[in-house]
Amino acid sequence: MGPTSVKLNTGAQMPILGLGTWKSPPGKVSAAVIKAIDVGYRHLDCAYVYENENEVGDGIQQKIKEGVVKREDLFVVSKLWCTFHDKSLVKGACQKTLSALKLDYLDLYLIHWPTGFKAGDSFFPSDEQGMVIPSETDFLDAWKGMEELVDAGLVKAIGISNFNHAQIERLLNKPGLKYKPAVHQFECHPYLSQKKLIAYCQDKGIAVTAYSPLGSPDRPWAKPDDPSLLDDPKIKAIAAKHKKTSAQVLIRFHIQRNVIVIPKSVTPERIEENFKVFNFELSPEDMETILGFERAWRVCALSTAKNHKDYPFHAEF
Ligand code: NAP
Repeated sequence: MGPTSVKLNTGAQMPILGLGTWKSPPGKVSAAVIKAIDVGYRHLDCAYVYENENEVGDGIQQKIKEGVVKREDLFVVSKLWCTFHDKSLVKGACQKTLSALKLDYLDLYLIHWPTGFKAGDSFFPSDEQGMVIPSETDFLDAWKGMEELVDAGLVKAIGISNFNHAQIERLLNKPGLKYKPAVHQFECHPYLSQKKLIAYCQDKGIAVTAYSPLGSPDRPWAKPDDPSLLDDPKIKAIAAKHKKTSAQVLIRFHIQRNVIVIPKSVTPERIEENFKVFNFELSPEDMETILGFERAWRVCALSTAKNHKDYPFHAEF
């Protein structure tokens, strides 16, 4: 029921549901990828900074070797980490990801955050106050590096993540822009429904991917009093009405906004459950009700970068 993919401005089709891999332990993620491919997932959301791309790649390789899928059946996404924004570092960073994943191209490569960090061995170079040390780089130069990856055949499409709308505008207005971003990936769920940013992107022909769709209960900085989407009685009531789980409602919510969604799990039953979202429909009233749960609550605020010149979340959207 409904579309199972979203057409990008490159012409490619991107599966609307993918498997997230942030926090998936290296010892568990190969099995998660294998399970996901077995139950029908064809889209994997990865990143260099997740430190598990080698094991994600092992899972992919196994399924290709078994003949269950071919490379071209899969849509593999990865992300350029903040310490590689200097244009001279972009290609090497992408090549490291490709070799860990054991692939010769990515379907989509994203600038993970608009904020460049000091290059070096630490993913989060920080000062004595624990605040990140910025680099002198500009995301427009990183973008030039990203465009070169397309021309070199290393990636089929490029996009962004965690940009605010003024930053996207700046990118779209970049003199000599060669490729527009195909996708913008940002946090989205009923407590951060992102109406304005979704409308802005979709209007510009940029497809949207929603991250932390379940509210990321395994985020390392979770506090006991934080709100919980999966336990929200109002979400549970909608789920019960449809004889579905809260997770399935939280995933389906995006699909009906034509938003790509990437729930993470390393639990076989949940990987399967999260894929069973194409056989029911939320009513327009359900959608309105869910949109009413907005409370401007963010999982990923990257607050150690809040003094960075390119920190995205001071702006309204
Ligand atoms: P999420 O997908 O909202 O939640 C993942 C958590 O939910 C895990 O603890 C998982 O547990 C649990 N879970 C999964 N399915 C469940 C189900 N059916 N019932 C109950 N619990 C369930 O969180 P996320 O990992 O933050 O976001 C998803 C993906 O988005 C990430 O993995 C990553 O790929 C991407 N992401 C990108 C950015 C960015 O900056 N671009 C930031 C955050 C996330 P188990 O794994 O133990 O089953």
